[in-house]
Amino acid sequence: MESLWRRLRAASSFLPEPVARDPCVTLADCMHPAIPRLVDVQEIDHQTASLRSDLERLPALVRGLDAQLSGALTDVVAAKEAHTNNLKERKKLELDVQQWKDRARKYRDQTGAVKTNEAYKALLQEIGNAEAEASKAEDLELDVMMKGDEIDRRVKSTEAQLRESEASVTSQRKKVEAEGLEKKKLLDAATAKREQLFAPIPEDLRDLYTRIAKRHNGTALARVRDDQCMGCGLRVLPHIVQLLHRDDNEEVHRCENCGLILYTLEPAATHSPSASGNAEAASSTP
Ligand SMILES: [Zn+2]
Repeated sequence: MESLWRRLRAASSFLPEPVARDPCVTLADCMHPAIPRLVDVQEIDHQTASLRSDLERLPALVRGLDAQLSGALTDVVAAKEAHTNNLKERKKLELDVQQWKDRARKYRDQTGAVKTNEAYKALLQEIGNAEAEASKAEDLELDVMMKGDEIDRRVKSTEAQLRESEASVTSQRKKVEAEGLEKKKLLDAATAKREQLFAPIPEDLRDLYTRIAKRHNGTALARVRDDQCMGCGLRVLPHIVQLLHRDDNEEVHRCENCGLILYTLEPAATHSPSASGNAEAASSTP
């Protein structure tokens, strides 16, 4: 059976040059030929996950702005309703005052026609009572008028607040929409770039990447630095580290602990002192 490495080599031979990650080494110099592409794919996947999460937050932001506006509108409606009720109450009290005053006048008019002392006293009693009620209603009317002044101020302030909210919400909404469009554009570009990078990778490696990424929250590869898996911190066996540096490496190596696909960005010369002649030769190269 044809080795995985040979198939990857064949697949990568028609691909553009991999991106240089380090001034002194490119990824393809020291590892499995498809890994550099997967590293780029992973970077894009992390970016797109972040973009998607940002985009998912936008509708809630818009809902928050709508709620802010609707709250300001509710305050105006409530203040106007209070104003209407206050006017109604004032009208009713005005009428009460008038009615009690009319009644007092009517009793007073009757005083000239009474024949007995008792009837006269009774009329005076009624007049006193009607005047007291009129005065009580006038006091209440004054209270209601004062409340009315306060309500008028509330109507004005809630209307001003609503105008302010409308202006602020309109500008924030525009910002949110622009951010959405920008992020959507970035997401589309990243998705296209990912497809371009991912498609030429052999199917079995693509499947492996997808499976691992699914299990590890979108991360399938872990860099090895100072002989440690950066995915979980476990020490990677020295011979695996050496293999990661070899360009005739036929295998994809995964961390024994976390299962992520291992890769390295470190130059082989500084990293494999036991690789006899290779390390010395590399380090003595001018
Ligand atoms: Zn690990």
